[in-house]
Amino acid sequence: MRQIQMVDTKTQYLNIKSEVDAAIQEVLDSAAYINGKPVQQFAESLSEYVGCKYTIPCANGTDALQIAMMALGLQPGDEVITPSFTYIATTEVVALLRLKPVFAEVDPKTFCIDPASVRKLITPKTKAIVPVHLYGHAAPMEEIMTTAKEFNLFVIEDNAQAIGCTYTFSDGTKKKTGSIGHIGCTSFYPSKNLGAYGDGGAMFTNDEALAEILRMTANHGQNRRYYHDIVGCNSRLDSIQAAILNIKLKKLDSYNAARQSVADFYNKAFAGNEHIATPYVAPFCDHVYHQYTMIVAPEKRDGLVAYLAEKKIPSMIYYPVPGHKQKVFKFLSSDITSLETTDWLTDRVVSLPIHTEFEEEQLEFIASAVLNYFNQ
Ligand SMILES: *Cc1c(COP(=O)(O)O)cnc(C)c1O
Repeated sequence: MRQIQMVDTKTQYLNIKSEVDAAIQEVLDSAAYINGKPVQQFAESLSEYVGCKYTIPCANGTDALQIAMMALGLQPGDEVITPSFTYIATTEVVALLRLKPVFAEVDPKTFCIDPASVRKLITPKTKAIVPVHLYGHAAPMEEIMTTAKEFNLFVIEDNAQAIGCTYTFSDGTKKKTGSIGHIGCTSFYPSKNLGAYGDGGAMFTNDEALAEILRMTANHGQNRRYYHDIVGCNSRLDSIQAAILNIKLKKLDSYNAARQSVADFYNKAFAGNEHIATPYVAPFCDHVYHQYTMIVAPEKRDGLVAYLAEKKIPSMIYYPVPGHKQKVFKFLSSDITSLETTDWLTDRVVSLPIHTEFEEEQLEFIASAVLNYFNQ
């Protein structure tokens, strides 16, 4: 049996090695390392895949979020509502731009932003909502978009963990996450569902004028070389990463299907076990399982992690400290309301290995180790 890893990027690479190696060699031969043909090709294919008009590639997912907030013209002091239960990148860029992060509560079943909590936090200073499609499960976009419309707010989707996830509206319309808000942001960090072999990110929008500002912001505020109209930054996806992503985008649906079958395997193995709450899937979305995250009793969780580690099975807590408890956001503490569900989840979540390259034997080994721990 191969050694079990949270994400097996090496085996995945070996399975597509000849294709990837040839594509990288082609970029090397072209010497167009920046803005080469693969970058444009990738942006076009990704627009088609996600179902949006414009895709603007950039250097990473954190930059995508930052550039989105810059392009929307948000000003220091403007309030941006985000979940506290997310990766730091979502909230960090808010603070970096001197905007004010306002932490919303999440739904205990979907782990995603709770629209009722969002509504309570809206003030005259609120300018944007950043729902996060956490672990590969969609945030409740229909309600978020309705609220945003009512209060005239921008919606920036943090789709770093959910590329390929489909959202179904109550009238039956289907859209991919990332294409629903004013801007969608994603990351191609190697462990993400669509991972490069280095850093990468992208922004999605259907608004032509906004697309132009996003593109300029990512390119030193210029659309004509050396003529700088707005304050921008330097954030590019390089040609080698784009060439790799062109190959992997074609496989994304099968990769997501592979993740779903791993989740099915775990779900079946743990079904009916009183100690384990397996991931919930809301009727409005399919789940692309960036993570397979269970809820267990807090007094059992560290023991489970240690027990699995003894058997060389990695597991992770995403995330051990929620935003509203991070030292970096201490300056906001007088404004932070208590987030009971976020705290409750933080004490109970644990994620098992999930990726596209499992051997059946590995999955059986993980599932029986988890069950043995709770039965001992
Ligand atoms: C990975 C991630 C990001 C940031 O992406 P990078 O490419 O690492 O900058 C942002 N938000 C979430 C939820 C993520 O998981």
